[in-house]
Amino acid sequence: MTLIRAAQALLPDGWASDVLVGIAPDGRIANVVQGPGQAADHHVGILLPAPVNVHSHAFQRAMAGLTERRGPDPSDSFWTWRRLMFRSLDRLTPDHVQAITAYVQMEMLEAGYATNAEFHYLHHQPGGTPYDNLAEMSQRVVAAASDTGIGLTLLPVHYQFGGCDGRGLGPGQIRFGCDPDLFGQLHADAGTALGHLPSDAGLGVAPHSLRAVGADTLRSYADRFPTGPIHMHLAEQIPEVDEVQAHWGARPVDWALDNMALDGRWCLIHCTQMTSDETIRLARTGAVAGLCPITESSLGDGIFDGVRWLGAGGGLAIGSDSNIRIALAEELRTLDYSQRLRDGSRAALASAEMSTGRRLYDATLRGGAQAIARDTGAIAAGNWGDLLVLDATSVHLEGREGDTVLDSWIFAGDDRLVTDVWSAGRHQVQNGQHVGRDAITAAYRRAMADLRDAL
Ligand code: ZN
Repeated sequence: MTLIRAAQALLPDGWASDVLVGIAPDGRIANVVQGPGQAADHHVGILLPAPVNVHSHAFQRAMAGLTERRGPDPSDSFWTWRRLMFRSLDRLTPDHVQAITAYVQMEMLEAGYATNAEFHYLHHQPGGTPYDNLAEMSQRVVAAASDTGIGLTLLPVHYQFGGCDGRGLGPGQIRFGCDPDLFGQLHADAGTALGHLPSDAGLGVAPHSLRAVGADTLRSYADRFPTGPIHMHLAEQIPEVDEVQAHWGARPVDWALDNMALDGRWCLIHCTQMTSDETIRLARTGAVAGLCPITESSLGDGIFDGVRWLGAGGGLAIGSDSNIRIALAEELRTLDYSQRLRDGSRAALASAEMSTGRRLYDATLRGGAQAIARDTGAIAAGNWGDLLVLDATSVHLEGREGDTVLDSWIFAGDDRLVTDVWSAGRHQVQNGQHVGRDAITAAYRRAMADLRDAL
């Protein structure tokens, strides 16, 4: 048993002082006791549940910082960025993908995420031929998670068409492509690969988007995969809304609401292009909105209507998507700031009872746990030991207590305040650094040097 004693901890019924948390050898929280007493292995200042990063394409980390110049296209946009992203794929080998993924997972842990749902669509060789081992790339994501100790939920992605008209994949997409049968086999093989990780690892499924999977297939998705989380990109960009409207006769969220039996198993990524009515109707399905505020800002996706969504009882979670920055506090801050900029408001997502930071953090914990169907998001017996520590000795947190701690971290501090992270009891971040940082960074540097003229 690992014993952690915290001066302050955020428990399911609120803040508590002098809390002892016991983590059993299986990685689950065995008990939570308040009050002084037994000695502990770790004495920490502020102990929080560590949230889930619900959306990532790990390999895109390699492009970060390389897409900030205007190309020859007079209107640089998401779509010019996507062409660059596709071009960068040509040279990526399984070794590169493993090294980049491990580096990103390490950064996620250091930022305070205990877990990551990897929305994994880079399946095949350049040119589109499957690897001899169909799930080679999935195995590399699993191998990265084995090195970093992150709690992985793997979401193999079904990507079949180049658009809503059912056209074939373009050259940049050819490494993603699977028809339903091939995808079914790949999904099963990816599940087998996850057997190499500790038992907190999970498997879900991800139809890429309305653009990339046929309407009939999407209508039956929940039946085809009857258990586990289902994630899908939805309503990210205006041209995507126009394309779905033109071919399928409805806006993306309207179409999904009317055709896809959305419920609490679904996590819909972005939803930055919704009408007020769509926002309220989608919130009421119980599906989680997977928001990626830094990437959505970087790509000019639009502003998610968080005020209306939370007001309608919607669940939300946070992801790092393109991984241009891995920054947990900044994702949450950016979400609230986007609302303020749109509405001319302050403390946009606060409620009468809760500060902005507390409401954002609570929603993220709850929505993240639901989105990957993991026993996490609260420091409570039976849940996985997914925990993070904030540095109570930092000048930014000195004298701060309760919800003000979260507000100070998210709005006045950053991820440097995170000193320790446990993922299912694995103590992967200690004193602000991942325990395998040197070797993981060295492998990432080698991969990036190898790719330098390709990116
Ligand atoms: Zn994405």
